[in-house]
Amino acid sequence: MPHVAVIPGDGIGREVLDEGLKVLRALDARHGLDLRFTHLPYGADRYLSTGLTITPEEMAGLREYDAVYLGALGDPRVPSNVHAKDILLGMRFQLDLYINLRPCVLLDERYCPLKDRRPEDVRFTVFRENTEGLYTGIGGQFKRDTADEVAIEAELNTRKGVERIIRAAFEHARSRGLKRVCMSDKSNAMRHGHDLWQRVFKLVAAEYPTIKASHLYVDALVMEMVRAPDRFDVIVTNNLFGDIVTDLGAQIQGGIGLAASGNLNPEAGIGMFEPVHGSAPDIAGQGLANPLAAVLSAGMMLSWLGHVELERQIEDAVRVALNDGLVTRELGGSLSTSQVGDAIVAILSR
Ligand code: ATP
Repeated sequence: MPHVAVIPGDGIGREVLDEGLKVLRALDARHGLDLRFTHLPYGADRYLSTGLTITPEEMAGLREYDAVYLGALGDPRVPSNVHAKDILLGMRFQLDLYINLRPCVLLDERYCPLKDRRPEDVRFTVFRENTEGLYTGIGGQFKRDTADEVAIEAELNTRKGVERIIRAAFEHARSRGLKRVCMSDKSNAMRHGHDLWQRVFKLVAAEYPTIKASHLYVDALVMEMVRAPDRFDVIVTNNLFGDIVTDLGAQIQGGIGLAASGNLNPEAGIGMFEPVHGSAPDIAGQGLANPLAAVLSAGMMLSWLGHVELERQIEDAVRVALNDGLVTRELGGSLSTSQVGDAIVAILSR
């Protein structure tokens, strides 16, 4: 019985996760998936009433689940966002979720901001390294608040860390029959860390002779993503560049309301799935939030749990909803958050 930890979080996180769960429950009833859900209250409300973000025991407890399904974290009542940092970054670093998996799939060409691009042109996946790079907080400030201040932010690249994300990208390509993996760095300027990426990429690529391995400096990558997104099947890159290019990817695929993600450590058997958008306090509680990114994230989670075919069914159902205009205001429709969830369930049961 797959056991899923559900962390609705804050703002629209709760509303969109309700719809993702609605879809999961409908598929469960139909296909006997035997899913078990346990709701966990981590978020701003709990932090404000108890002062707790997530305890070390609670963080360790997440390892016991087969998957974690997260809404969004962020609340204007907590300006420091300390709870979001503790919970979200805590999960990524402490559970060693080294793969940030970001599919960029255009499901309906009307939502692509690029001219004359069709769904078959935008169908790539970004593997962003999620535990190292410039996001470890290594560095310091010296002579702070003086005219002589110095600030240093160090980028951490380990052989193991670089190798495992590159290997994950190739394994993904191999298992899905994809033919191209592009690695992106800035090794012409960052001659130590990114030279490591270059060397490891060549070594790992040599183990996958049937997959075409290519390289682009990150400045060239962003140009190519806009000019010719059909060039890419799988992109692998470091934490900072991945952060940026995945948001570009989210726009190319139709906007933040359609971008789903996974944070994975396959060796440890831990997978956390979440829509890319934040808690959007400006529209929370009004039934305006587009739940499709959360629904697509639920599809990724089902694939992680071994139901690859159901991820495809969910993607197809979202494609139909977009085509039929069964969407929220943000995408030009008139349905509420829960009506979109109902529509997806109805399409899946046809
Ligand atoms: P944070 O990431 O700090 O929680 P946020 O929620 O303000 O930030 P985003 O998620 O990037 O940031 O959202 C920016 C804006 O886009 C929101 O304020 C909201 O207006 C809109 N938005 C985001 N997600 C959705 C959604 N699922 N449906 C409709 N609108 C959305």
